[in-house]
Amino acid sequence: MEQSAENNIQNKLTDSNQESQETAPNSKKINQKTVFDTKIEFLKGVGGLRAEVLQKELNIRTFGDLLMHLPFRYEDRTQFQKIGLISEEDAAVQLKGRLRNINLWGEGKKKRLEAILEDASGEVKLVWFRGAGWVAKKLKEGHEYIVYGRPNMYGRNFSLAHPEIELHIPLEKEKSYFQPVYHTSEKMKAKGMDSRGISNLMQTLIRQVHKEIEETLPTSIIEKQDLLDRRRAIVHIHFPKNTEWLEKARNRLKFEELFFIQLQLLQLKLVRTDKNQGLIFEKTPTLAKFYKEHLPFELTGAQKRVVKEIHQDVQSGSQMNRLLQGDVGSGKTIVSFLIMLMGIDYEAQSCLMAPTEILAQQHYEGLKGFCDALGLRIDILTGSTRTKARREMLEDLKEGKIHIIVGTHALLEDRVQFQKLGICVIDEQHRFGVAQRAKLWQKNEGFFPHVLVMTATPIPRTLAMTLYGDLDVSIIDELPAGRKPIKTVHKFDAHRLRVFGFMQSQIDLGRQIYLVYPLIEESETLDYKNLEDGYESIRRAFPDVPVSILHGKMKPKDKDFEMQRFAKNETKILVATTVIEVGVNVPNASVMIIENSERFGLSQLHQLRGRVGRGGEQSYCVLMSGYKLSKEGKKRLEVMVRTVNGFEIADEDLKLRGAGDIAGTQQSGAVDLRIADLARDGEILKVAREVAQELLKEDPKLEKEENLPLVITLENIQKAQTINWSRIS
Ligand code: ADP
Ligand code: MG
Repeated sequence: MEQSAENNIQNKLTDSNQESQETAPNSKKINQKTVFDTKIEFLKGVGGLRAEVLQKELNIRTFGDLLMHLPFRYEDRTQFQKIGLISEEDAAVQLKGRLRNINLWGEGKKKRLEAILEDASGEVKLVWFRGAGWVAKKLKEGHEYIVYGRPNMYGRNFSLAHPEIELHIPLEKEKSYFQPVYHTSEKMKAKGMDSRGISNLMQTLIRQVHKEIEETLPTSIIEKQDLLDRRRAIVHIHFPKNTEWLEKARNRLKFEELFFIQLQLLQLKLVRTDKNQGLIFEKTPTLAKFYKEHLPFELTGAQKRVVKEIHQDVQSGSQMNRLLQGDVGSGKTIVSFLIMLMGIDYEAQSCLMAPTEILAQQHYEGLKGFCDALGLRIDILTGSTRTKARREMLEDLKEGKIHIIVGTHALLEDRVQFQKLGICVIDEQHRFGVAQRAKLWQKNEGFFPHVLVMTATPIPRTLAMTLYGDLDVSIIDELPAGRKPIKTVHKFDAHRLRVFGFMQSQIDLGRQIYLVYPLIEESETLDYKNLEDGYESIRRAFPDVPVSILHGKMKPKDKDFEMQRFAKNETKILVATTVIEVGVNVPNASVMIIENSERFGLSQLHQLRGRVGRGGEQSYCVLMSGYKLSKEGKKRLEVMVRTVNGFEIADEDLKLRGAGDIAGTQQSGAVDLRIADLARDGEILKVAREVAQELLKEDPKLEKEENLPLVITLENIQKAQTINWSRIS
């Protein structure tokens, strides 16, 4: 069902694009077959068998596909690490040395190949487990080899497992210093397509087709941005003459890649603003009344600014599609309430969707008092709402008797209908997909509700531009006054007694404490045992202190009960899994203790820490871990101790993990990049977006002659995407 909703969006997008192109004179010249559509088996040196492997392993089917199989690094034949100087800091090393002591051990699956590589400065062990026999046949003792791989420390010595290895052939003078290195696989290698083999195919291909490589960007952009033309960029990305050319080629292709993503997103935004009418909410007396009489605190400057920005949106006549980013604790909830009030005087209803029941419940309770004061009806709908209550609620909603409805995914169901849905707020976006957003759009006939997506996981700017580039963005970059920065420390498990002592002192001060255990599905049973054991040891250590326990396997009713006890300060310690990760707000809780903290990702740690520091008291976060930490685990904890700034953390996260791993990005497909790297190429991305913006301002429908290459390229991109979609379903 999700799939079909998503397809719907896809169709919608392409529909509207096609419509805009029908009138465009440029549309007639697209869709011609070119040499790049030629099946890869027809390339000299490929043939049927290799073509099959290429398709299976790398999804390379055509000349064009192979041409865009870019090297992932280059061997600079002048730069080698001295073996004796390998250090733990080296993520990967390129070595040159003589091979000795080649040894093949074991039988069948246990077969194992070892060899020593030696240069003047020292020696290192090379090891193979897979395909050991096959590799052994290739290697010759006493010859000089170039080796590339990731060093691991075993005891006091380094070794490289499954390194790339190649016989060293002294350079001919005129040959490039840069050898491209391509991704390949064991199966490809077995068919003679190791990196060198691919490079040879590439040479054949480029000789044959390079004259037909067409420009995809208008001349004006190429000149203004001082870019390499596409033909030379592709030639030099595969066979760079020197570093300078390589840089230029890379730069050009990165720009192109990011530019077309931005162009698509901005086009989509343009089409929406053009076509999707939104309700107009101009005067807002109810909002004004609430602001004057009931607002419990002064808004921060950032909150005020965002409310103003959004008020502009809902007067514009177009549908609002906005992303609100604000660090944990920056006060997004009250902002969302003020926004929902904007529709009240126009008989428009609002919904607020949260990712969990606990969170929905908390929003409901937080807003109920405000609604009562204003004489508005608010209700809550979740998976555990009883049938009878639900039936009545749905009827009232349909008749417009409910002004604001808070809920979970349950709100997306088709039977949830409104009289007039004016504003949708989606809290903590990363738990919801594009498909869900689209379902909300379809709740009305003939017009779209305004949509505000709120996310508390700060997303690096570069990533936000790519994931949410079709949305307008508002940022709350200011915490309410009087907040003290949370103090964060890292403690080893061996110091647990001291941590208990600290907990007691905080309880004596009247504060409350969260104690969180990791929970990942693979080792669920074990994790629950950890949680139960932790709970028992807390009971023993604090016999007089009331303790709650909370985890995902409990019934919603019981979860709710325990959460309420903690929220009401009836229990002082809450032992929980990450179910409390998002959104929960108990201002009196001032200590967050995270067990096995090395097992969490950075953004998760930041989310968890954000549960404290919500009141005026000094708050603390204690990251517990064993002594044994991976390099990345250690780095994550260091970042947490160093900063409380969510955006800084998000950037570190991106650097450590890469864009593909950031929560919520997998399903979007938007960050499936060939050459650009969102962690490093922020500057190029920024320029690419600006250039795309500029271009669409001047030629919104891409009708100008000089923009024809863009139309053709977009068409090709869309064709490729359609293929991908059909493959998924
Ligand atoms: P988040 O942005 O993480 O969703 P919340 O909306 O839960 O943050 O707000 C965190 C806490 O800050 C709540 O207790 C809320 O009442 C309080 N708060 C929000 N805005 C302000 C403000 N301008 N001044 C003081 N407290 C505020
Ligand atoms: Mg929140």
